[in-house]
Amino acid sequence: MPQSHRIAVLPGDGIGPEVMVEALKVLNAVTKSHNFTVEHETYLVGGAAIDATGGPLPEDTVKGCEAAEAILFGSVGGPKWENLPPNIQPERGALLPIRKHFGLYANLRPGVCHPALTHASPVKNELIPNGFNVLCVRELTGGIYFGQPKGIEERNGEPVAIDTMVYAKSEIVRIAKVAFEAAMGRDKRLCSIDKANVLSNSVLWRETVEEVAKDYPEVKLSHLYVDNAAMQIIRRAPDFDVLVTGNLFGDIISDEMAMISGSLGMLPSASLGKTTESGGNFGLFEPSGGSAPDIAGQGIANPIAQILSLAMLLRYSLGQAAAADSIDQAVEKAIGAGFRTGDIFTGAEGEIKVGTTGMGRAILENL
Ligand code: NAD
Repeated sequence: MPQSHRIAVLPGDGIGPEVMVEALKVLNAVTKSHNFTVEHETYLVGGAAIDATGGPLPEDTVKGCEAAEAILFGSVGGPKWENLPPNIQPERGALLPIRKHFGLYANLRPGVCHPALTHASPVKNELIPNGFNVLCVRELTGGIYFGQPKGIEERNGEPVAIDTMVYAKSEIVRIAKVAFEAAMGRDKRLCSIDKANVLSNSVLWRETVEEVAKDYPEVKLSHLYVDNAAMQIIRRAPDFDVLVTGNLFGDIISDEMAMISGSLGMLPSASLGKTTESGGNFGLFEPSGGSAPDIAGQGIANPIAQILSLAMLLRYSLGQAAAADSIDQAVEKAIGAGFRTGDIFTGAEGEIKVGTTGMGRAILENL
């Protein structure tokens, strides 16, 4: 009997549904070639859900996600819903409650610059002659964004703002394990980013990461202060393999990685929660970019971020690493053969300009 899985598909708004079509074609092909099955049910989310039901995250969608091993998410939002009250806006009213409901504590954001696309990176080409491939692991549910007390109060006749950075050791242990496990499946190098010269939080962070490291003797662990890390990533991105950091620093460092990678349309992301029956983690997988209303409906969006989000889903939630590898390689080959959507097209010799379906087809042909 082939192994069978179930996932929830939430295409959302803007380019979400267009790029999702291509990801589902890839899913169909890869399940056949690797002999497993994935049942996938599609649910409303974001602006599309507001239009149909009045709210961005219908009960039916939450139930569908609860019955699944993972969520393949497109993107939500757009000008049509921008003036609604904040709590029912597509992003805040759908993505944040999903993260909370499913306890998605680990955010994985690859920062990848393909060797053929180094010209799209704002980093000087001589610093990244062969591109780079870094995975940023960010703690997503703790730290200064959620610590109490929090707020603005009156002290000595003036407003005073308070945010509290709190990390329990158990929170650091679980995110460190995700990062070490990820490093084990890659080049076995992990750089932990903190501010241990100033913050008590970071002292505990560093001690705890060192402790967890004892269970992963094959992984070469290093540490950088966040200010230095921000500079080193620009200067020598190819030297890094996996980065692990807290919520606040990860928010900034993962965006820095995305920026130097060159194109938003190429970058997937994963938010992981509890362990599932297949031994992976329940997770939400989505492109790093948004719904791109400026190009939606034109058939020109790059489907690669969505297709690589599917690859991450197969790897981290369903334990289908071989299928994930073959998708990653097919994307590499399509890029290597010169296929380019508008966001990565430069007009250089050998480039072939394609739309969303053309890029999907090029990847399928290389699977
Ligand atoms: P965006 O990421 O949607 O777009 C930024 C730029 O990148 C645009 O020029 C867009 O055309 C381009 N781009 C993004 N993905 C692309 C792709 N796959 N192929 C080609 N080009 C691509 O960010 P924005 O313009 O700030 O936001 C637009 C909407 O998306 C807003 O409503 C915002 O709230 C929402 N948003 C949603 C998510 C999410 O669903 N997780 C994340 C970010 C923004």
